[in-house]
Amino acid sequence: MNAPVVYAHHESRSFNAAMKDVAVRALEAAGWTVRVSDLYAEGFKANAGPEDYTRRSGSERFGYLHEMKHAAATRAYVPDILREQDRVAAADLLLFQFPLWWYAAPAIVKGWADRVLTDGFAYTDERLFANGLLKGKRGMLCVTTGATPEELAADSDVTGTMDEILRPFSGGVLQYVGMTVEPPFIAYAPGSASPAARSDMLKAFARHVEAAATRAR
Ligand SMILES: Cc1cc2nc3c(=O)[nH]c(=O)nc-3n(C[C@H](O)[C@H](O)[C@H](O)COP(=O)(O)OP(=O)(O)OC[C@H]3O[C@@H](n4cnc5c(N)ncnc54)[C@H](O)[C@@H]3O)c2cc1C
Repeated sequence: MNAPVVYAHHESRSFNAAMKDVAVRALEAAGWTVRVSDLYAEGFKANAGPEDYTRRSGSERFGYLHEMKHAAATRAYVPDILREQDRVAAADLLLFQFPLWWYAAPAIVKGWADRVLTDGFAYTDERLFANGLLKGKRGMLCVTTGATPEELAADSDVTGTMDEILRPFSGGVLQYVGMTVEPPFIAYAPGSASPAARSDMLKAFARHVEAAATRAR
């Protein structure tokens, strides 16, 4: 069983790094093969563009969607996209570990989706949502926040609830390409939590990952 982890934090001593390590340990202890895509450390390119293709369709006018469709048959993508697509293709459970930035995933995670989950690989015009090309795989969002649940609830009339905040990624990306979405794990405000509360969050996260891994078998 394969579990790629798409990980987005610069700092190896961060709470996100601790969560990523907890997930890797829990999955490996359960016999899974884990591959971490450490997006910042690897300098993953977040902005989609013409340089993402090793062969172009020949069209004078550049269209990202048009080039995706052309590249799908020939895998005419640059190596970082091909590597990520190979990991996704082999995945049973795909984890995303990131801090909430501006009530959304950081740009580097969004860029990962833009560049990796391409037309012809993850979906087609006919193969979307319940029938997406990545049907059968599971995806899980593992998120940290700066705000406490109370602060987020107080602002939710303006920003949306946490469920609504995550929906563009969980529904608009993961479900769009056919994945089954696991309940997310949200570590609220680790920066203002006590050491004991942070330790409890990591233990709860390990149990959350173990349960998802069991469901995915
Ligand atoms: C551009 C930007 C936009 C943002 N937008 C939002 C937003 O819209 N909404 C919102 O709520 N927040 C927002 N934030 C805040 C951000 O979400 C939080 O700062 C982030 O989620 C905290 O996670 P971290 O991994 O960086 O925590 P860290 O600050 O790295 O860690 C928190 C604490 O955990 C400790 N720790 C690390 N490892 C361990 C371990 N193994 N065991 C126990 N403790 C450990 C650290 O030492 C630290 O004390 C934003 C931040 C930025 C930069």
